Amino acid sequence: KPQKERQRLPVLPQGIEREAFFAALDELSGQIGAENVEVNDKPLKDGWYMEHPNTHDMMTILDEEELVASAVVYPSSTGEVQAIVRWANKHLIPIYPISIGRNLGYGGAAPRVRGSVVLDLGKRMKQIINIDPDDHTCLVEPGVSFYALYEAIKEKGYDHLWTDPPDLGGGSIIGNTLDRGVGYTPYGDHWACHSGLEVVLPTGEVFRTGMGALPGSNTWQTFPYGFGPYSDGIFSQSNYGIVTKMGMTLMANPGGHESFMYTFQKEEDLAQLIEIIRPLRISNILENVAQLRHVIQTIAVRGQPRTTYYQGSGTIPDDVVHATAATLPTGDCTWIYYGMAYGPAHIRQHKLGIIDAEFKRVRGARRVDPATLPADEYFWSRDRIASGVPDLHELRWVNWVPNGAHVAFSPVSPIRGADAERLLALARRRHDDAGFDFFPAFCVGLREMHLIIEIVFDRDDPERRAAAMACLRHMIDDAAACGYGEYRTHLVLMDQVAGTYSWNDNALMKFNEKLKDALDPNGILSPGRCGIWPKRYRGRGWEM
Ligand code: FAD
Repeated sequence: KPQKERQRLPVLPQGIEREAFFAALDELSGQIGAENVEVNDKPLKDGWYMEHPNTHDMMTILDEEELVASAVVYPSSTGEVQAIVRWANKHLIPIYPISIGRNLGYGGAAPRVRGSVVLDLGKRMKQIINIDPDDHTCLVEPGVSFYALYEAIKEKGYDHLWTDPPDLGGGSIIGNTLDRGVGYTPYGDHWACHSGLEVVLPTGEVFRTGMGALPGSNTWQTFPYGFGPYSDGIFSQSNYGIVTKMGMTLMANPGGHESFMYTFQKEEDLAQLIEIIRPLRISNILENVAQLRHVIQTIAVRGQPRTTYYQGSGTIPDDVVHATAATLPTGDCTWIYYGMAYGPAHIRQHKLGIIDAEFKRVRGARRVDPATLPADEYFWSRDRIASGVPDLHELRWVNWVPNGAHVAFSPVSPIRGADAERLLALARRRHDDAGFDFFPAFCVGLREMHLIIEIVFDRDDPERRAAAMACLRHMIDDAAACGYGEYRTHLVLMDQVAGTYSWNDNALMKFNEKLKDALDPNGILSPGRCGIWPKRYRGRGWEM
């Protein structure tokens, strides 16, 4: 390789001298093997989803060098994770665990503190420890992806078990669940469906939650609570521990399934439609975490760049969106509801009949006959995902702009028309100001909706990156001013989002900091993640 390819000065953790850092890495190499300790001194390569980097965020919104690892290490066992944690405490080196690192749209594999040592757990800890065909549960390590679990279930011939993948199947079951990600079968709330964790604490001790604390228990994956305080919650969206094993419940094959798709004509139909959805969802007639999407995203997910449809400047005009939609199998519309009915045919017919009558109360609502849709239509990707089959089709809308990257604005609200309209209006205004096409999708949980609005931007254009960041910051503040908060956010926005949860003089963050200081007195584990800074960093200008 030419000299310039080989050399890139590694970023050091702040406050650690170069020689001391390399001596510490040598010491760690002695414990876990030199081949499992990699200095990040190669040029940063973005790759693509299936060959993603573990050194930085391949969809960066800051300059790529801002949030990078100094080194990446690969433990093979819980014992080695403990050894790394003790090593980090000894040398006061910040560490940042990832399971697989495909957290795209929320920071990818990047650490929050520049120069942290990334623990890539997934490379060597990827065992499916157990799949229980009777209890419908499994126990997995961090490197187990939704694809891997799906394939293992198929291999064993367990046709009665279903997984629940998010839109993309390459993520880690543990990583996605800890970040409280969502899938689209009735088991879409991943955190609600987990049962039992094994956790390495920031001081190196290991413990098991729930029934895992009772030696010899065979109930770890079937009863999540155990006895005493329910501690699992503090290990999701936090920096209090490293999860090395997690139990997950698996859905029973419902004995039949049928996707359906309805289109709705006007943007103004939204409020009426959401009001119709709420009682149907709460009473489980609408059974899965379905998606209600703006048609522009269905156009974008065909994978062609926006210039295919519009060459002018500014955001793509509504008449172009509608004229384009009219040429597609979905036909002209504004909103598309992708749902699924489960169970044998006669049960599905009953539910689908109710849904049809209710949805058609919206003037111009149309059920699209799946038989009219070609095999590569996006509808079939939703069909696979909602029936537990992992997929990658969703990636295609990232091609909307050159060097496409995306970042999400993800507020939650009750399933109410007025809330949907208010959130949509504030986000649309900021998108128009910043010149971004508007990609809203409502993911409807049991009593709330996640509104996921993806900003797709050119990551090689510093001006567009800055515009995306400013747009997000405005939306977060605007939403908070109306009483809405994000369910999850990108690394660089965590301080701001945490700051919006400020009731009673930031009482929640004071509690989080108390926990952080008790569990991680040296502040080595993922400092700053979810806005929680350890004492050593607090008030020293790390917040963004
Ligand atoms: P990781 O990157 O491994 O983990 C996420 C974070 O959790 C890490 O940064 C780390 O801070 C923490 N963490 C991970 N493992 C551990 C551990 N063992 N111990 C302690 N902390 C840990 N997401 C959804 O939820 N639903 C969707 O439908 C969805 N759709 C997407 C569509 C597109 C086109 C794209 C690009 C992304 C989408 N995402 C979605 C976001 C993302 O791809 C997934 O959530 C993905 O599963 C997260 O990556 P991961 O599982 O590899 O997690």
